[in-house]
Amino acid sequence: MYTMSLFMTLARYYSDYGYYGTRSTSDHIGIYIVLYLAVIIIPLIAQINVSSTFKKYSKIGNSRGLTADQVARQILDSNGLHYVEIEHIKGNLSDHFDPRTNVVRLSDSVYGQTSVAAIGVAAHECGHACQHAESYGPILLRSKLVPVTNICSHLWYIVLIIGCVLSAFTIGTALIYVSIAMFAAVVIFQTVTLPVEFDASNRALKTLANDGILEPSEVPHAGKVLKAAALTYVASLLASVLQLFRLLLSTRRR
Ligand SMILES: [Zn+2]
Repeated sequence: MYTMSLFMTLARYYSDYGYYGTRSTSDHIGIYIVLYLAVIIIPLIAQINVSSTFKKYSKIGNSRGLTADQVARQILDSNGLHYVEIEHIKGNLSDHFDPRTNVVRLSDSVYGQTSVAAIGVAAHECGHACQHAESYGPILLRSKLVPVTNICSHLWYIVLIIGCVLSAFTIGTALIYVSIAMFAAVVIFQTVTLPVEFDASNRALKTLANDGILEPSEVPHAGKVLKAAALTYVASLLASVLQLFRLLLSTRRR
């Protein structure tokens, strides 16, 4: 983890300073500072927002007294997904659906909890299980992009650093462009993730309302939690687009 953050810092350093020597104009400094701060601050604000929203609605229990795992079982069964299992995992908001093992994993703040926030998150993860069962287009595309995204997200900045170190040579310049292309692949993955996440939340809220799991007055509360969660994906994408813009701006100054 430490090594990765060191590489990221080096990549930022090189992409900003390393192979250009002195900056060309003071205008660039302003743009770079704004972009640099935005890339860090936007996801941070979204993360603080989802944590505080979840905390707020964790204090409001659903009127039927159902636990989130009971609700997940009900939703999965009503969609014919009896084979999908539900497991309790450690951690906070680490909930997910694993399509390889067909397991919905619910974290400490969701599994066994009766809050409208927990119910919303559990229903959202069941939404992902339904997407896979229905071969929902965007989630199939997202799954296909996972292997290449894993490689690109872990290696793009290492390629960038090597490219910057070798920038006096043609291969160095080529590697810088390869690293930007690798980062662009990550941005594409994040873009495809958005409809997947929004659709899972829409399915969740529809089911919670139509199946009478939550009272009509409780559904908007779950909706606020899911909206805050969706905004973290939007914030990550926005930060990445700005980062990509920053990288492309760097190449223009060469
Ligand atoms: Zn999701």
